[in-house]
Amino acid sequence: MGHLTPFLRLAAMLCHHHCHVTLITPKPTVSNAESMLLSKFFSAFPQVNQLNLHLLPSSSGTANADPFFLQFDAIRRSCHLLHPLLSSLSPPLASFVYDMTLISPVLPVATAIGVPHYILFTSSASMFCFFSCFPNAAESICDSDGFDIPGFSYVSKSWIPPQLLDINAIFRKLFLEDSPKVTKLDGVFLNTFEEVESKTLKALNAGELVKDLPPVHALGPFVPCYEFEGLCETGEPLKWLDEQPDGSVLYVCFGSRTALESNQIREIGDGLLRSGFRFLWVMKGNKVDTEDEEKRLEGVLGIELVEKIIKENKGMVVKEWVDQRQILDHSAVGGFFSHCGWNSVMEAAFYGVPILGWPLAGDQKINAEFVVSNGGFGTWKKDWGWEGERLVRGEEIGDAIKELMSNESFFAKAEQVKMVARKAISIGGSSEINLHKLIEEWKKSQ
Ligand code: UDP
Ligand code: UDP
Repeated sequence: MGHLTPFLRLAAMLCHHHCHVTLITPKPTVSNAESMLLSKFFSAFPQVNQLNLHLLPSSSGTANADPFFLQFDAIRRSCHLLHPLLSSLSPPLASFVYDMTLISPVLPVATAIGVPHYILFTSSASMFCFFSCFPNAAESICDSDGFDIPGFSYVSKSWIPPQLLDINAIFRKLFLEDSPKVTKLDGVFLNTFEEVESKTLKALNAGELVKDLPPVHALGPFVPCYEFEGLCETGEPLKWLDEQPDGSVLYVCFGSRTALESNQIREIGDGLLRSGFRFLWVMKGNKVDTEDEEKRLEGVLGIELVEKIIKENKGMVVKEWVDQRQILDHSAVGGFFSHCGWNSVMEAAFYGVPILGWPLAGDQKINAEFVVSNGGFGTWKKDWGWEGERLVRGEEIGDAIKELMSNESFFAKAEQVKMVARKAISIGGSSEINLHKLIEEWKKSQ
């Protein structure tokens, strides 16, 4: 969802700018959330040409592997099938945008088709710096303390996605294989905006980091789209929020695919109650939200904790997919306890909600530091470790929540970031101008 959602928002944006859009998605999909979002998108935008990439079967001997990883592997192995889809389009393509994780397999197809082609890098400009410099820095990073990102911060070794430090990890191999090919692209799209990452974007576009890097275009924050998003029909969490005072509720959600261990989930429950603040907690027990997963809340949380939550009427716990966009937009929400997935960070910026970050994996520590250093609209606990590194106790969690929710300056900063974010995408704003220029270039090249 962290890659699909920004793609759909970009597609919606291009439709609003009167582009003729074709969307190619892999078949079959993995999770319910994905297939629901896609079907809503195509109903809301019937003018979008829908094509399926029929995936080759997964490799054998992978019965216990992460289903999202198997899907990713199947997509990479099926990319050559894009060629007939792309070359038979009518009207013919003016430009082609693909996911950041598909550079190596898609590049030969994109080059053969011969149209300007771009990746959508679904993280920050800072993370893109790291990605583009990685092959040069890969050896030294393992022996040094960290890495300096211009205009951002010194990224200490403990913030670097652990998979990138492990010489046997598949993601390190993919980074090493894909990153040098960035110079073969016509550009890179980012869901960020110049006002919050200006120095980093300037350094990238001045070629200070990687020679012959193509232009990097900040087009965000991508606007959560009312025309197709909103997967939860019941609206129970929203009804509950309607009854709470303004700014009083902490929203807790660690993204679309984080399922913490049961003992850690119980500590979070304990921390939320200790904090004394109201909360809306989206709790995922499984990585993939298939229909048959429904486990009773008590099973994970423990009956005592559930009874306490109900008795104190302080919080609401949901296990199903929620419409995060509507929650962050609700006046009752005053804080966001987040894993700092990049989409969540941009959504919090767009709606002006301060973040308590608990980065758990991948680029999330770099994203959490963005919140602190580029917007100042939140905080994160550097000693909590990656997911499962140690058990973070309820007491620590409760204290961190109090620190976020009681500090007026975070609210003020979040409000400022919101104003700047909205300006960037309004007519004449930095991101709107960047998109407009691209569309004009495509028109000229036709
Ligand atoms: N999301 C949502 N409801 C949920 C969980 C997640 O709408 O119950 C959305 C969230 O708004 C964001 C995306 O799913 O757009 C998650 O992306 P992010 O980059 O934050 O994290 P990831 O899931 O990739 O770890
Ligand atoms: N990643 C990348 N190129 C690849 C594969 C992965 O840049 O070819 C990034 C990915 O976006 C994330 C990190 O590597 O920042 C670890 O991947 P994870 O499984 O956490 O992906 P996510 O769902 O968070 O994007």
